Amino acid sequence: MKKPVTLQQAIVYFGDAERAFEYAKWLRWPDGKVTCPRCESDSNSFVKTRRLWFCNGCKKQFTLKVGTVFEDSPIGLDKWMMAFWMLTNCKNGISSYELHRSLGVSQKSAWFMLHRIREAMRDERTHKFGEGGPVESDEAFIGPNTKKMHRGARLRSIELNKHQGRAIVMGLLDRELRQVRTKMIPNVKREVVQDVILNQVGKNATIYTDNAPNYDWLKKEGFVHETVNHVTEYVRGQVHTNGMENFWSLLKRGLKGTYVAVEPFHLDRYADEQVFRYNNRATKDNPLTDEDRFTLAMSQIVGRRLTYTQLTGQGAD
Ligand SMILES: [Zn+2]
Repeated sequence: MKKPVTLQQAIVYFGDAERAFEYAKWLRWPDGKVTCPRCESDSNSFVKTRRLWFCNGCKKQFTLKVGTVFEDSPIGLDKWMMAFWMLTNCKNGISSYELHRSLGVSQKSAWFMLHRIREAMRDERTHKFGEGGPVESDEAFIGPNTKKMHRGARLRSIELNKHQGRAIVMGLLDRELRQVRTKMIPNVKREVVQDVILNQVGKNATIYTDNAPNYDWLKKEGFVHETVNHVTEYVRGQVHTNGMENFWSLLKRGLKGTYVAVEPFHLDRYADEQVFRYNNRATKDNPLTDEDRFTLAMSQIVGRRLTYTQLTGQGAD
């Protein structure tokens, strides 16, 4: 059977439990050598009827889900893969309500699934930005609608940030690589912004920002710094932060349309999701498909875990 191209084909393709299993197995162990996630022994026997392996090294059994974002999930791989396909490819994301209706799982399960998929979507590459072209740097204030939150979430939201209930995200865009990176920051003070840039951007890079004073140290550190004054101009030739502005509007549109009341507590994961889609969008030089995005996220399930307790803030509410 041909690999799926559209959502409808993906539903048919992964609706077959055996095929979903083989596909996920191939992604997890591309060379076909199944190794134990506990002791790394590759000596094992496969129990076909239960789709699990018995490890000859540690004498324990393991499934495909152990050591991945699927760990301890009772939900079938077919549903997981559908959810991966949808979240990696729907431009503005999907809500837990939509996923609950599409897959026939509870809304609570759907919410938990979406957060675990975002965990797999997180870009963990650490190469420096600005080696091949200029970098745009900007911050966005994202305001949750605290009126729509239940009390515990509202209190947590206020406690987490002192900026009138708004969370701050810092974003960097490498124009040459066409990649964005985001980081939640507690405030926009010079030291905070400096720390992010020195960690993420290569020495001597060119950085474009607005003319906020928290960037006035850049030249001293050896960067080439060009600014636009947003009161009088938005663009001066190549000097602008429109790429980051564009990303913020995508992020905000997703948050407003699909995710009605996002707590700042979870905002970094929503940003990860938008970064994934942005960094893996199809361009002329890199014509990525829906299946490419799906496969990429699915190939990052190993070694990432997110428990319900971590997600809900250790017993709050
Ligand atoms: Zn083992």
